[in-house]
Amino acid sequence: MNSFGNWLRRFSVKLSYGIRRFMEGRYGNDRLNMSILTTGLVVCILSMLFPIPAVKLALTMVSYALMFWAIFRTLSRNTYKRYQENRKFLQVFDRMKDREHRYFDCPKCRQMVRVPRGKGKISITCPRCREKFVKKT
Ligand SMILES: [Zn+2]
Repeated sequence: MNSFGNWLRRFSVKLSYGIRRFMEGRYGNDRLNMSILTTGLVVCILSMLFPIPAVKLALTMVSYALMFWAIFRTLSRNTYKRYQENRKFLQVFDRMKDREHRYFDCPKCRQMVRVPRGKGKISITCPRCREKFVKKT
């Protein structure tokens, strides 16, 4: 029994070493991935609830596609691009959560400008390039 315990310990060390080596230089997990997987799971459950075969099939395909996408991102070696995707996603996510502000892109330099909501039509001055533009909040 003791030798089996030793073997198991050695095996788990080897396994974690192998996984670490496999993941070396690969992107790994992030918030965007977790969201993709969660969406995939929800769609998968939905597909089980739908009685219409065509809809069921379509939903199953979508859930598989989402899960493959998440796996692809985890194993991707293009870490910079994956990082940018996640950053963009978190930005959009934060904007959606923010009920007190509206976000606009400056028409000239694409700088993001945050303004308070519900002030009617206001003139916004871009903090970067001083471009003025009017938006409804
Ligand atoms: Zn600007």
